Amino acid sequence: MDVKQFIRTIPDYPKEGIFFRDITTLLGDAEGFRSAVDALVQLHKGAKFDKVAGIEAHGFILGGAVAHQLGLGFVPVRKKGKLPWTTIGQEYDLEYGTDTVEIHSDAISAGDRILLIDDLIATGGTAEAAVKLFARAGGNVLAASFVIELSELGGRQRLEALDIEVLSLCAYE
Ligand code: AMP
Repeated sequence: MDVKQFIRTIPDYPKEGIFFRDITTLLGDAEGFRSAVDALVQLHKGAKFDKVAGIEAHGFILGGAVAHQLGLGFVPVRKKGKLPWTTIGQEYDLEYGTDTVEIHSDAISAGDRILLIDDLIATGGTAEAAVKLFARAGGNVLAASFVIELSELGGRQRLEALDIEVLSLCAYE
């Protein structure tokens, strides 16, 4: 399946010089959505995970479907202030300023092996923050999978340096 045929590219969004890779066109197409989820699941068939985690917001849609197919529970990694119970948070750098992701402090059990899912990896800053969160909660992100990898921004190398297997369905420069 050529996943790129379902992805819409919007130049200069949200600002000049950025090519925004829009996966709403993939999610909205029955074949596109199913093929992408099936391909993500296929990458990890046979691997042993205890939980699937997805990063807000597209990681919820993709990761939820992957968790369902793998027969695993799902953990949402949310933006700050959205979770109702005790949380642990991890700050990460943006181009301008910082942001924070959070999980519930009891979202995983000690020693859990986690598969992390998001729609896209760029610099890897968001995914790295999620990885640190799970490590602090006593778990271990073993693999991180994305529909799209922006290969020139170094996200893959950043996660691989933490011993995480990085997989993606397609890449843009
Ligand atoms: P990063 O932390 O730099 O790896 O950025 C990853 C997050 O930002 C993902 O959750 C993406 O949804 C979003 N993102 C970054 N760059 C793009 C882009 N060019 N097109 C679409 N989403 C992007």
